[in-house]
Amino acid sequence: MEKTLVIIKPDAVKKNLIGEIISRFEKNGLRISALKKIYMNKKQAKGFYIVHKDRPFYESLTDFMSEGPIVVMALEGEDAISKVRKIMGATNPSQADAGTIRKDFGESIERNAVHGSDSAQSAAYEIPYFFSALEIL
Ligand code: ATP
Ligand code: MG
Repeated sequence: MEKTLVIIKPDAVKKNLIGEIISRFEKNGLRISALKKIYMNKKQAKGFYIVHKDRPFYESLTDFMSEGPIVVMALEGEDAISKVRKIMGATNPSQADAGTIRKDFGESIERNAVHGSDSAQSAAYEIPYFFSALEIL
């Protein structure tokens, strides 16, 4: 069993899509190990996306991620990391496959509704960024 960190980003939370997005993961057999709605300030967003610190979109991305509440969750299942990435779709919603979350709800390459860890190494950084051991069931 593998665990991955998923975020419902501020654009999707604003559009009242929390339930719709969570149900897509559950319908695909993923289980929720941890879940909460939080607000990430600019500094916390920069820490979360530190791997992208040298990318041209780092400032804009971290402004976006701190513009309103988000929902963070740890999901568990077989091949959870790749399964979640498939359910989310490509980073750019215009290139995402039909039926994916980003195709259906993403607004742009930046405002793309969801985040999912891209590797076991990323998940090992991202899950404890938000959850303590006692919060992960
Ligand atoms: P995420 O890490 O959010 O799951 P991803 O792994 O598909 O997305 P990354 O390359 O890790 O994509 O980029 C992180 C996030 O940065 C993207 O989800 C998107 O919100 C934003 N982003 C990526 N590329 C661009 C870009 N060219 N312009 C603006 N924002 C971008
Ligand atoms: Mg990524």
